[in-house]
Amino acid sequence: MKIEVLEKDETNLRLVIKEADVPLMNALRRIALAEVPTMAIDEVVMIENSSILQDEIIAHRLGLTPLKTDLDSYNLPEECECKSEFGCNLCRVTLTMDAESNDGTRTVYSGELVSENPEIIPVSDKVPIIKLVKGQKLKLEAYARLGKGQNHAKWQPVSVCAYKYYPKITVPSKPCKDCTKCVDICPKNVYTIKENKVEVKDLLACNLCMDCVEACPQNPPAIKVEWEKNAFIMNIESTGSLSPERIIQEATKILDNQLKEFKKQLKAEAK
Ligand SMILES: [Zn+2]
Repeated sequence: MKIEVLEKDETNLRLVIKEADVPLMNALRRIALAEVPTMAIDEVVMIENSSILQDEIIAHRLGLTPLKTDLDSYNLPEECECKSEFGCNLCRVTLTMDAESNDGTRTVYSGELVSENPEIIPVSDKVPIIKLVKGQKLKLEAYARLGKGQNHAKWQPVSVCAYKYYPKITVPSKPCKDCTKCVDICPKNVYTIKENKVEVKDLLACNLCMDCVEACPQNPPAIKVEWEKNAFIMNIESTGSLSPERIIQEATKILDNQLKEFKKQLKAEAK
């Protein structure tokens, strides 16, 4: 297998993966979406809420606010040694909010959540939680826990985790006379015209929609779009709770553990 990094920043990772197959790519994609744990607010104790929103709606909004996650210091509640319904400081983080509007209307943002652990804070402090008018108050205590996307989307570490086949395009060998239909129709601007000839400008942008092939007036079409069987372009966009490379590393670790467990059970059964 060969992996090449195309793009990388704090929340995005784009990879070219060669000599892999669909089952592996799909397993990693699904694990990244549903099984890599991340931190999210799971329980809210409302102390005072005189706003116009019900407690449940505020709790829901807080739950969907992405939190920075520390996978090395915290346990999943079901795996924690405390075995407590309430959790301990290894499986739970307490955040508080005490917001009030003294004059006029104001928006309360996620940045007003105060965490007991300065590492576990909202990814962005600009997520609007609620609007308060003069005299309204919101005071609460929230408990964040690790969880998995398969139980609730708030625990999904990625907003996008997808792959596509690596495109393979054969452009017409001879210049086409007065026809730029394939170039004009491409929604991803893959082609360009150089000296009357169609050229591929941005191969990786191609999403194999085949519009260019259908637009070609020649029969058979002069342009050919195919894909490499064992090469993929993978896109991972993190919510900001974990780095995208950490998410994919965790996914491979989880897959590895599942296979080890399978092997162990198989051995025990076969005895
Ligand atoms: Zn615990």
